[in-house]
Amino acid sequence: MIDKYIPKYMALENAVFVKKIKLSHQMLYQCCLCPRQCNVDRLAGQVGYCKAGNQAEVSHWQRHYGEEPPFVQNTGAGTIFFAHCNMHCVYCQNHQISQQQVSKNKVSVIGLADIMLKLQQEQAVNIDLVSPTHFVPMIIEAIYIAKNKGLSIPIIYNTNGYDSAKALELLEGIVDVYMPDLKYDSEDAALSYSDVSDYVYYAKQALLLMYKQVGGFKLDKSGKAISGLFVRHLILPNNIANSKQVLDFLHAEIGNDIGLSLMSQYAPRYRANSFKKINRVLNHQEYQLIVEYAQQLGFDKCWIQELTSSDVCFPDFEKPDVFDFKF
Ligand code: SF4
Repeated sequence: MIDKYIPKYMALENAVFVKKIKLSHQMLYQCCLCPRQCNVDRLAGQVGYCKAGNQAEVSHWQRHYGEEPPFVQNTGAGTIFFAHCNMHCVYCQNHQISQQQVSKNKVSVIGLADIMLKLQQEQAVNIDLVSPTHFVPMIIEAIYIAKNKGLSIPIIYNTNGYDSAKALELLEGIVDVYMPDLKYDSEDAALSYSDVSDYVYYAKQALLLMYKQVGGFKLDKSGKAISGLFVRHLILPNNIANSKQVLDFLHAEIGNDIGLSLMSQYAPRYRANSFKKINRVLNHQEYQLIVEYAQQLGFDKCWIQELTSSDVCFPDFEKPDVFDFKF
């Protein structure tokens, strides 16, 4: 375990940062930030599939206790929820902000840097960027500004996994912990439930790249997440084979030194009740089967949930107290 951890971006030379900022903003001219490659000119006001524009949009930010314990500790993750998404999952627990435009505030890169610094002042243990993919250029610039004003806590890139290699290359040396989902091992399921025809291919490529950059999951002496790859998998009902294949891929192609979170909180909210297979909560037997399978494969940095989580883990972005639960 590491005693004193220095976040990667603190060691990154300003000149390298500036180059990354320039290159990442260039990706907005014909947007190719994610594998959808919409090719729209976001700098000229056009929008693509995700509907993100030329400024970052933040739906909500706070010290947040709903992530896994190593990301929270006593004082909370410094979570910033970005509006919009490059996937449209029919069961998305954040659908109000990812797909329904409920709460979104445009922020400048200076404003975004200020949010990061305020979270640090409030003793947040990290900066936890939720759904960051479509705002990578603004995020890189904001971290650069915040770093030069004293930001010194780890950066968590909390993503659905549908990230492009080009954007990830620009994040090298900036992100400390990659926290991607790996939702599916079936492109058919990804298309049906998340409106993405090539999710499995690109998410697997993205996870391999992330691991190459940051390696296995590491905690400091206090148990705080400080670096590495931490993969989340939401187990869907009637999808045991899919979940096993996801774990097989992680075990065979990446390794057991990653962090793994097996999420049981699925519930058929939003539009999921139109899909017969996933129109119910997960049952105990299904969850247990996957937990045991992960144990058999040797994942020993594995976080599991109480099955009651499906009742309590849903935020409401229309209420002032968006969250009233812990992981
Ligand atoms: S980030 Fe948005 S606009 Fe850009 S390629 Fe992805 S979905 Fe399209």
